[in-house]
Amino acid sequence: MRLEDKLFLNRYRVDSESHLAIKDPDTCRGRCPDRPCIYVCPVGVYEWLEKEGRLAVGYEACVECGACRIICPFDNIAWRYPRGGYGVSYKYG
Ligand code: SF4
Ligand code: SF4
Repeated sequence: MRLEDKLFLNRYRVDSESHLAIKDPDTCRGRCPDRPCIYVCPVGVYEWLEKEGRLAVGYEACVECGACRIICPFDNIAWRYPRGGYGVSYKYG
């Protein structure tokens, strides 16, 4: 089974507030040209918006693996689990 097929089996209860936040956007902009969070996230939560010069965080798709928090060289991601009852469910695979 392909990764995309497995991800399709996940179910989400999306919270209205993000459980992921960038502590200092200037660090992403000026000190982190490689932006490894974008490449490590298996579901594409992070996207660099060139025109706006900022990192977009699509927290709704997060599968709560924690990889972005570990890979960020500046500890620049405020990471927590979604509030109780929200987030991803792996019931189907
Ligand atoms: S890895 Fe960290 S510092 Fe770099 S772009 Fe991502 S959140 Fe910003
Ligand atoms: S915890 Fe995992 S799925 Fe969620 S944003 Fe970070 S890398 Fe992506």
